[in-house]
Parts: sequence; C-alpha cells; structure tokens
Amino acid sequence: MRAVKGRDTTPELAVRRILRAAGIGYRLGGRGLPGRPDLVMPGRRVAIFVHGCFWHGHDCARGARQPKTNATYWTAKIGRNRARDVATQTVLEAAGWRVVTVWECRMKADDFSEVLVAEIRGQAATVSAPGTSSA
Ligand SMILES: [Zn+2]
Repeated sequence: MRAVKGRDTTPELAVRRILRAAGIGYRLGGRGLPGRPDLVMPGRRVAIFVHGCFWHGHDCARGARQPKTNATYWTAKIGRNRARDVATQTVLEAAGWRVVTVWECRMKADDFSEVLVAEIRGQAATVSAPGTSSA
C-alpha cells in the first residue's frame, strides 16, 4: 500500500514522533523484510506496521465502512490486504521478529503513546492483534 500523498503528515509520522520522544531508535522502510514494515527496530527485533483501518479491514467502525462505488472490487482488495497482513506477520514472527500493528483508529486514544511504547518495549499486552476471525 502506497499512500504517497501527504506522507509527512501520515499516522506513521505521529508514531515516529512518539518513538523519538521515548528515545526508541528505529529505521524506516524495512527493506528486505517481508511486507516491508513501516518502521523496524533491528536491535529489539520489532517490526511496526501502521495500518489504515479501511485499507486493512480493521474490525472497527471505520474498517467496516462500505465503499459506495466498486464495492466488489474494494471488498476483494481489502480481503487480499488482510490475508497478506496475516501471512506477513506469520513469516516475520517465524523469523524471530515481534510484530506491532498500529491501527489508525487507536491513535486517537489518550494513552496511545504510552501503550505503544510499552508494547515496543515488550511490557504490555498487544496494542492490537490482527483479527483472528477472518471473514
Ligand atoms: Zn480501526
């Protein structure tokens, strides 16, 4: 998924800001890794994906929004995205990475930054697990 437009105002940038404030080093782009994580912390073996709820079919109001046009096309596309997300996570975890998925909707929570930092440091339960029930 490429959201080229407005890259520097994306949720990814907000996540980066939180990491910097917490003194957590990271690299961008995840080149060479399955699924190209948005951010990686090679030392911690943590890979972060920042997911838009609609595009990745999150189990939330936004993710459940039905496209008005080309619904069949989008439903199939989002279904493929979800399947790929699950597969990517499986491959990364098998290679010893911990996968942290940041959903756009969760970023509005007041304690989002604390929860995210705790998760990256491995001190908390998952911020969000990808849906275990696949439709
Ligand atoms: Zn969501």
